[in-house]
Amino acid sequence: MSTSESLPEANPHRQVPSVDAVLQNAAREVATWGQPQVVEIVRQILAEVRQQISVGQVPELDMENICSRLGQILSERNAPRLLPVINLTGTVLHTNLGRASLPREALDAVAMAASSPTNLEFDLHSGVRGDRESHIEDLICELTGAEAATAVNNNAAAVLLVLNTLAMNAQVPVSRGELVEIGGSFRIPEVMQRANCSLVEVGATNRTHLKDYQSALNDNTALLLKVHTSNYRIEGFTSSVDEQELADLAHAHQLPLVVDLGSGSLIDFASLGLPGEPTAADMIAKGADIITFSGDKLLGGPQCGLIAGTRELIDHIKKNPLKRALRLDKMTLAAVAEVLKLYRDPGSVVQKLPALRQVTREVADIRQQAQRVCEALSGELPPGWKIEVVDCFSQIGSGALPLETIESVACCLSGGELTDVRDIALALRKLPTPILGRVHKGVLWLDLRCLEREQEFIGLMRQLHL
Ligand SMILES: *Cc1c(COP(=O)(O)O)cnc(C)c1O
Repeated sequence: MSTSESLPEANPHRQVPSVDAVLQNAAREVATWGQPQVVEIVRQILAEVRQQISVGQVPELDMENICSRLGQILSERNAPRLLPVINLTGTVLHTNLGRASLPREALDAVAMAASSPTNLEFDLHSGVRGDRESHIEDLICELTGAEAATAVNNNAAAVLLVLNTLAMNAQVPVSRGELVEIGGSFRIPEVMQRANCSLVEVGATNRTHLKDYQSALNDNTALLLKVHTSNYRIEGFTSSVDEQELADLAHAHQLPLVVDLGSGSLIDFASLGLPGEPTAADMIAKGADIITFSGDKLLGGPQCGLIAGTRELIDHIKKNPLKRALRLDKMTLAAVAEVLKLYRDPGSVVQKLPALRQVTREVADIRQQAQRVCEALSGELPPGWKIEVVDCFSQIGSGALPLETIESVACCLSGGELTDVRDIALALRKLPTPILGRVHKGVLWLDLRCLEREQEFIGLMRQLHL
């Protein structure tokens, strides 16, 4: 007689329930997540259980335990992938956090375009096929003074498309001071190579003169390119050629001038008390034949790259087969149109667009908020933690106005000798809506410039205590 007959529990493998048995107890999970996924996870859990038994462990085998583990795995696996976070990093347009947030007008338009058929490429007047960019071209022209315009997925795509259309198998002189790299993956020399054109470096890193461009011109030159050095600045003994002079030189040789503005802007930042950033209209007025700029940097809209310029060149660009590969989707188009319309009233656009509202927020207002927040949280944080109001500097981010910092105010969190500041930062990241700050000098800085949902923030911070 074997021992397993007299003591059935001696063979724990026999006690592992079957997949079917678990499924019978998991009707709710099956209804929520669907049979195939639930079966897959049940198999996985039972395999783990057998594995534990085979190494001599004693796993929890009752059905309730198995089902609760099942529910937990399924809800973690199906949790939303993108989560809202509270950006208190001090960088307003943070590329890793998705840059600009959209205004209400754009959100409504996105929801409409996403949930219903639209006249995206259909002319309701004539009843024939239309052009998807007709919905924004007139707005871009109105706001930049350009004759024609188009748009693609981001500014990197815009630069690629423009160069590939206008300079394929030809040369493009660029100043050595403007061979920028943006975020590690966008480098002018590499984009040129992919666009199939050859870069001709002119001038020196710190100084480039008109005559440097002049001597680079030959029969194989396709255009002159000027790149706005948006994320760095060369200082000291420097010189570069103004767009107007460059446009004159290009035109004297029947060549176009292309300007990659990077962030670009549709309003004069200097008038808002901020350091000036070239406006798209300035560049067109100075004679640029094509300009490109981002939709989600200082413009404050969705990710896209706007291209504006002469009718002839824009028509040419639109016919490039790459354009189809880089085209905007309907949701982005709907959002850009609404964002651009807001610029028709320069008086209200700064308040309506979150990016501009946050960039221009008064420091006195931020300071008052910091004091309110610190007061609301004093005595409500984990033992030993300290919170205090400290002046700081924010930056715009995404390479816009890189060296210019804007005065701001932070709530600084520290935890005394025994608490590592990285643990504080981690605790804030683990909140149901993660709060992101910046660790600096052993303290977690929560720059309040971008804090709009103050009560939600205070409520979240109080949960740290629990
Ligand atoms: C940011 C930037 C780009 C890339 O723009 P994306 O919209 O991020 O693709 C290209 N050129 C310059 C000068 C930039 O600043």
